[in-house]
Amino acid sequence: MSTSLPRAIKQRTCIGCRGVGHANELLRFTVSNAYVVCDTEKKRGGRGAWVHPTPECLGQALSNRAFNRAFRSAVDARDVHALLDMTKERKLPEKKAGREPMGTR
Ligand SMILES: [Zn+2]
Repeated sequence: MSTSLPRAIKQRTCIGCRGVGHANELLRFTVSNAYVVCDTEKKRGGRGAWVHPTPECLGQALSNRAFNRAFRSAVDARDVHALLDMTKERKLPEKKAGREPMGTR
């Protein structure tokens, strides 16, 4: 009767390409004072939006105003523009799946 998803796999939907990815592979964004900020530690509370760290997905999310939709309000995504420029310049390598995260604290 239960239709809940398995909790072991943290799947997140990218608001750029609408593809599903592992939480480790996507960037998390939250809103602070109407500004979209990148939640690098993935610890901030509240609603989050997930995007692949690629120019394609960041660019699509920006041009589709996906952040406004994700946060259900008009948000300022200038930080995402800056991040998009960074990903274009550095061409961030895609993370290999299967690497064990460091979870011992
Ligand atoms: Zn994506």
